[in-house]
Amino acid sequence: MRAEGDDTGQRGREVSVDSDRSAIAPVRRVAGSDLLDVSRVAARWVFPIDRPPLEHGVVDIKAGRIVEVRQQAGAADDATLDLGNVALLPALVNAHAHLEFSDLAEPIQPPAPFTQWIRNLLAYRRDREQSSDELVRDGLREAGQTGTGLIGEIATGDWSVDGLTKTECLDAPMVVAFRELIGLSSEQTAGQLELAQQHIDECRRLACDATTKLIPALSPHAPYSVSPDLFQQSVELARRESVPLCIHLAETPAELELLDHGTGEFVEMLSGFGLWQDNLIPRGLRPLDFLEPLATLDNALIAHGNFLSADEITWLGRHPNVATVFCPRTHAFFGHTGHPWQKLLAAGATVCLGTDGRSSNPDYSLWPELQFLARLNPRSERTVLLELATLSGARALGLEADYGSLTVGKRSDFCAVDLSSPDANAVFNGLF
Ligand SMILES: [Zn+2]
Repeated sequence: MRAEGDDTGQRGREVSVDSDRSAIAPVRRVAGSDLLDVSRVAARWVFPIDRPPLEHGVVDIKAGRIVEVRQQAGAADDATLDLGNVALLPALVNAHAHLEFSDLAEPIQPPAPFTQWIRNLLAYRRDREQSSDELVRDGLREAGQTGTGLIGEIATGDWSVDGLTKTECLDAPMVVAFRELIGLSSEQTAGQLELAQQHIDECRRLACDATTKLIPALSPHAPYSVSPDLFQQSVELARRESVPLCIHLAETPAELELLDHGTGEFVEMLSGFGLWQDNLIPRGLRPLDFLEPLATLDNALIAHGNFLSADEITWLGRHPNVATVFCPRTHAFFGHTGHPWQKLLAAGATVCLGTDGRSSNPDYSLWPELQFLARLNPRSERTVLLELATLSGARALGLEADYGSLTVGKRSDFCAVDLSSPDANAVFNGLF
């Protein structure tokens, strides 16, 4: 796997984020109801991801699983779904989303200062009238229709397991539901852990129903919204219950300042909420202090990781069980400097992709993240980019046995990219 320096070195703010919904058009998911009466899917190009692409490829399927991936031999018959001039990929994996913002046509403004964006996001959430169940279902539908088969969703506030199960189950993407935990004061710890346990139990109870696609997970939100004690205890709970855990980490310089010095815009924001106390967060902390406890988990994710230091990147290289979720268009929206994804890959770390929420991104489609990344890094190896959007995400979410590549035994859940579209070229350039 080749990793290069940042091709552009430019600030994300100078790169336009394509908010044109038509950019999503060339990609669709092929799964569930599309495959009811067929035993094979044919396409001009098949990208298994774990091996080189096949021209005129066929994927044989049986009972929802892949049984063979091969070159087409002979004409297509009635049992073949021939997709024509498309590239057939495994369903895309969006490892980090907040689907509750699915009604937003534009991201919340302004992107800076970050704490003002948070304040405006909280105000939007307080004032909206639609139920979050409905919003999450709409977001899930959007992600599914645009090629995503597996999604890491942050379950915030009144997010309900029951709400999600009302989705059209056959075609709904698999959801790894990270119950968000928030609490800076020690009085909140017990209540948040109880909520976490209930969430895990509830997801598992529903998982007995074969049509429910829900996996429990935890997300202590971020170092500025979770006490060190709640963080530690949620990591221990994730370990005991063997569930994935995600934390927003190294997202802004302001977060690093808060951890190191106990000063800056987060102090101002938390004081405004009446939450700040001088001894709330010990001084001299850094993202590495939040990474180290994750070493013992099977699957941990850090959302963003925009400002990881060299030794933190080395640490992540030695711990591929702790993945970094890069959200390219969200990164650009906030105007951050170059993301260290290529350095992470070079160090051996797991890097995957997410859309984040529509609160900082135009949509929940993962394909435009790849297009954006390809445009920004024209010299990057395309097979590496495709792996970020598929196999790496499946690995990060602990579902590599079912998702992420067209491999015998995995689920027959696909993404088809129309090769006549100029948008497809930007990503596949050089692969054919
Ligand atoms: Zn997030």
